[in-house]
Amino acid sequence: METVVSGIRSTGKLHLGNFYGAVKNFVQMQNEFNCYFFIADFHSLTTHPTPEDLHGNVKQVLIEYLAAGIDPEKATIYVQSDVPEIAELYLYLNMNAYLGELERSTSFKDKVRAHPDNVNAGLLTYPVLMAADILIHKATKVPVGKDQEQHLEMARTFGNRFNRLYNNEYFPEPFAFNFTEKLVKVPGLDGKGKMGKSEGEGNAVYLSDEPEIIRKKVMRAVSDSGPTEENQAKPESIQNLFDLMKIVSPLSTYEHFDNLYNTCEIRYGDFKKQLAEDMIIATAPMRERINEIAKDETYLRQVARFGAIKARESASKTIREVREIIGFKNF
Ligand code: AMP
Repeated sequence: METVVSGIRSTGKLHLGNFYGAVKNFVQMQNEFNCYFFIADFHSLTTHPTPEDLHGNVKQVLIEYLAAGIDPEKATIYVQSDVPEIAELYLYLNMNAYLGELERSTSFKDKVRAHPDNVNAGLLTYPVLMAADILIHKATKVPVGKDQEQHLEMARTFGNRFNRLYNNEYFPEPFAFNFTEKLVKVPGLDGKGKMGKSEGEGNAVYLSDEPEIIRKKVMRAVSDSGPTEENQAKPESIQNLFDLMKIVSPLSTYEHFDNLYNTCEIRYGDFKKQLAEDMIIATAPMRERINEIAKDETYLRQVARFGAIKARESASKTIREVREIIGFKNF
């Protein structure tokens, strides 16, 4: 059976981008594949969280994974830092990752632009740690959003390079995966680009947002003064709202507003109200479960401990074999 790995950085709550880009696919995949889902707390250290924030964020993501439908009976859910073998594989892969290729990564360039005062080595080697996350379980499928496509290509490069160096077809090639065949990019509410935690206040709708908050965020979303010609192309901010509607609303609702846009009869107030209500409906079951699961500390502890044991079984087997391939020997 093919192995699947995916993770979410523990930098806070899950938003609709995380859900539709990655988690929703995980939930479907756990019935068909050997699945490992982890909370990426090593990765979150690039932004230097305080010890209190670090644990609180890991817990929140664990709660939201479970609320979104990931089932610890079917899949292995674990916290990355509970599996030190990942850090060891990261070290080995770093020896074959070159400065030039790491500097060319789009996400690295974006981060340097956004935070020029914190360009640390962890940020530069982020794709190497991500490759270690995937290769540690010899996974072939990785459910991620479109933003991660380049990182997957780098994971294949590092795995293949290891194989070539040691003349051993050890690591299989991992590919980005989505059930719809196309990787998803969920837009944000700020009129430009994707939904993300670091894209500024109001851009992201979180699974845990109360209905009133969702309504406020959507009503404030960037739009324009409306179409003036029939069938005119949509500017980015409007296209983004339509893309969001395509994701959360029934197709008939989307088509209704698309027709109104094309005939210049659309009223953005009504359009946004409908979008907000459909987001509320889409997130309601998860919001309720988040509140329930958050109260059950014993369950959360059990899930994390059981997940760590299962993940380490697989990871320690890989590390044993990798050490042997590299040539480490006990005296
Ligand atoms: P991150 O929150 O950056 O750690 O991303 C975790 C997962 O969510 C990755 O698989 C991303 O590809 C996915 N993701 C994050 N933002 C979006 C988005 N706006 N659209 C689609 N997928 C996303």
